[in-house]
Amino acid sequence: MGIVTGADYIESLRGRNLKVWFLGERIAEPVDHPVIRPSINAVARTYDLAVEHPELATAWSRISGRPVNRFLHVTESVEDVVAQNKMQRRLGQLTGTCFQRCVGMDAINSLFSVTHEIDQKHGTPYQRRFRDFLVRMQEANYVIGGAMTDPKGDRSKAPAEQSDPDMFVRIVERRPGGIVLRGAKMHQTGCLNSHWILAMPTMRMRPADRDYAVVAAIPVDDPGLTFIYGRQSCDTRALEGGEIDQGNARYSGQEAMMILDDVFVPDELVFLDGETEFAAMLVERFTAYHRRSYVCKTGLGDVIIGAAALIADYNGVAAAAHVRDKLVEMAHLNESIYGAGIASSHESHETPAGNFEPDDLLANVCKHNVTRFPYEIARLAQDLAGGLVATLPSEKDFANPETGPLLRKYLKGRDGVTAEERARVLRLIENMTLGRNAVGYLTESMHGAGSPQAQRIQIARQMKLEEKKELARALAGIPGKAGTE
Ligand code: SF4
Ligand code: FE
Repeated sequence: MGIVTGADYIESLRGRNLKVWFLGERIAEPVDHPVIRPSINAVARTYDLAVEHPELATAWSRISGRPVNRFLHVTESVEDVVAQNKMQRRLGQLTGTCFQRCVGMDAINSLFSVTHEIDQKHGTPYQRRFRDFLVRMQEANYVIGGAMTDPKGDRSKAPAEQSDPDMFVRIVERRPGGIVLRGAKMHQTGCLNSHWILAMPTMRMRPADRDYAVVAAIPVDDPGLTFIYGRQSCDTRALEGGEIDQGNARYSGQEAMMILDDVFVPDELVFLDGETEFAAMLVERFTAYHRRSYVCKTGLGDVIIGAAALIADYNGVAAAAHVRDKLVEMAHLNESIYGAGIASSHESHETPAGNFEPDDLLANVCKHNVTRFPYEIARLAQDLAGGLVATLPSEKDFANPETGPLLRKYLKGRDGVTAEERARVLRLIENMTLGRNAVGYLTESMHGAGSPQAQRIQIARQMKLEEKKELARALAGIPGKAGTE
């Protein structure tokens, strides 16, 4: 039987002998590392949610003929796409961070349809291979990480034009029975918390980029992989002992750089090899799923709005009109993100392969809102928190017999609220707006699933300006087609 609970999942990660580097040292067992463990706990929460709420976090799979975790499910209806968003919001609420599993979910859904279409054109066996792989993943209930972002080197040059050919992951050798991959993937969300990685191209390819147009599944414990763990603001607070100063001691996100040093991939795990014209299709389908997956941030928004309301209450100003108004503004921004994302999912259409894909324009609008609104929500949370969010003495000063009583006397809020309760909620706001989980709430919101300009390009492609001009001309009584008479 596959992994069931969060505890099973954590055990499944032990003893893999991964090559993980952090703060200049090789980490013997990431599972037990105090800085890394909160990111593992966040993924573990996805398993526990599936046990607690199978209607939300599992689905019946036509492919495996049994219930599977929703993160490993290929959508079979509009409702399936919508349910992904509902699950994501709930997990954001429960963890207050990035729970890392959506990249794989969005990768399998986009690959399901793209492999079908490549096979239609080229007679390749990619979809059959992909289905076989997926059934294995569903049965074991593994975490799949999706790896897309290459280092890119000189951004003005295509993959094959770079002076260093390894700036994009590429096939360095085609052997009987498989291929050999070299390169690196950047900012890999949850990569060492995954069991398998799906490496995919990061952008449109030209015929000359043939060796770069590759999709392959790689086990995370492949000896050819090296992980260099990314730092997060205030991450070493996890090494100080105590928990209050961490703000959210239980959960965090994870990003690492992943280096592929001549990784052999057998043919059965290769799902694209040289069909360059399908790279852009794959990227666009993936981003249609992934950009509306960013409704995850509305779950984090719910937490931060709650924290702002709590601190206002603890300060005795909950009833002030301007405080209410700021909370309303935060909720308005948060629901605007959700509105676009869930609408994109409700507007899903069936692909030629038979799975369902969200509306691309609305997905891009959702993600574009995510690049902006969390920053405003964070600003308002800091406004309501007051300066203490950035000047609060440490947990150790609270514990010190000389300074502790002074802090408890002078840092209490309204009657009935302790200084420690105030400190805890202030630290949570700090965590999400300046600390570890500001990576997930702010910077990942900016750059994850593509930076703001990437969404503007997609919106520009789909905004149907000519149609809109016709509407205006018709009502303004201007005859003929614009620009033709
Ligand atoms: Fe999922 Fe959001 Fe993390 Fe992406 S940023 S993996 S959508 S939780
Ligand atoms: Fe992300």
